[in-house]
Amino acid sequence: MHEFETRQYVGGAFVVGDAEPLEVVNPATNATLAVITGASAALATRAAEANAEAARAMRALSVLKRVEFVRRLASGIRAQAAGLAALLTAESGKPIVESRGEVEYAASFFDNAAAAAECAAGELPASRTADRRVLVLREPIGATVAITPWNFPLAMIARKLAPALAAGCSQVVKPAEETPLTALAFARIYEQIARDTGAPMAAFSVVIGDPPTVAGALISHPATRKLSFTGSTDVGRILASQCAPRLIKTALELGGNAPFMVFADADLDRAVEQAMLSKFRFMGQTCICANRFLLAAPIADDFLVRLEARVQALATAIGDPTLESTRMGPLINDAAVAKVEAHVADAVARGARLRIGGRRAAIAGLSRRFYEPTILSHADPSMLCACEETFGPVVAAMAFNSEAEAIALANAVPYGLAGYVMTQDVDRLLRVAEALDCGVVGANDGAPSTAEAPFGGRKDSGLGKEGGTHGLDAYTDLKYVSMRVRSH
Ligand code: NAD
Repeated sequence: MHEFETRQYVGGAFVVGDAEPLEVVNPATNATLAVITGASAALATRAAEANAEAARAMRALSVLKRVEFVRRLASGIRAQAAGLAALLTAESGKPIVESRGEVEYAASFFDNAAAAAECAAGELPASRTADRRVLVLREPIGATVAITPWNFPLAMIARKLAPALAAGCSQVVKPAEETPLTALAFARIYEQIARDTGAPMAAFSVVIGDPPTVAGALISHPATRKLSFTGSTDVGRILASQCAPRLIKTALELGGNAPFMVFADADLDRAVEQAMLSKFRFMGQTCICANRFLLAAPIADDFLVRLEARVQALATAIGDPTLESTRMGPLINDAAVAKVEAHVADAVARGARLRIGGRRAAIAGLSRRFYEPTILSHADPSMLCACEETFGPVVAAMAFNSEAEAIALANAVPYGLAGYVMTQDVDRLLRVAEALDCGVVGANDGAPSTAEAPFGGRKDSGLGKEGGTHGLDAYTDLKYVSMRVRSH
């Protein structure tokens, strides 16, 4: 109970909260990991004020200093990788092997943002007239706010904070209530490195508490210039409406409903391999997890037989997420398991066939949040598992008869985050990738997330890009200086 940092990190110092307590529970064991005293609106406002002042300090830092600071944060994360991964697994239930991957993924955002900041440039467009020069300056936006989900407790903070700092901005983060301990552990790393390098200690704050109260105080502060949110579409809409009156810039990384398309010419073993990566990572609880499997009719059964063999093997690796051998841990909470159960029951009631799984897994001495990897065939677009994000380890497969039908099915949902295309035909690969109405395409690739790519969705999956040089641009604003030049 006492080994974790449980205080809020506000204005460069750890402070005890002043509102309702918040219990952090290990989803695998039900054990209480920590009790955090939440932050009130007043404490969140204090964080926003410190954020505004730190934004001025960040802006004053040279690019070289910012880049060095951001690089040191990457090293700081790597130096504490084992502890961070263990904490991440304890509060999220993510298998330890995946948690280590997430910690390295988080560090890579700091590497990438540092490199992008080093190369960032303004512009000097060709002048239309001899007596004018237009000098385009790229400036930091200022004080920013981030609200992050539980499914990537460290990486989603990194994806927002790294470009913010590299661009010369400050950021207050409100992490998910399920996973605040990883954020606070990172705040300790931040505090140490800011002190060592002389960077602003208050350019990052972590405030945890009742979400609408804390978010409301942070968004309504007059100095806040940007909100970056990752989470569900419903909450994204609420936050966008709160940002609208002051026209605060928003980046919204929201839910998905990714199609995983397997064409008849695909290398089926390779497609199965990528399907396992895409569907079962963190038990299906990532925003880009494949949700609907669209299979060319001639190979549908062959694909499912091969997939089933892999799923059978995976089902033997469900259990304690702290063990090296575990590939599937618990779902995040009871509501998540109930949603998966409802989706499977609805599909079966509407005529889907359950090939494997379809129930909770009983693990001795652990919670009831473990769910067997599941395959449903004969799904159709009317089923909940096809029209909503299941966010669990369920393959819902349906067949198609032509490329046009596959594309129509893939795009026939309000979401547009990721889509997957499995084919060996390069013409088809490009045709389908171009036709998919989404922001990320995995072409024979079930795990397309990487720090250098401009990640983000379309339609109900949100707006804005994170990662790479576009991620850095999102924390800058352009200003032009029009100069009259007198000729001799
Ligand atoms: P969520 O929307 O419930 O919560 C996300 C964050 O919003 C949390 O910090 C939560 O405390 C906060 N929040 C909730 N209600 C709020 C309110 N009324 N006002 C202010 N803040 C509020 O989502 P979740 O269940 O934590 O995460 C899962 C969702 O996130 C899925 O839909 C998933 O697809 C999505 N997601 C998207 C991406 C992406 O990059 N597009 C990445 C990861 C997760």
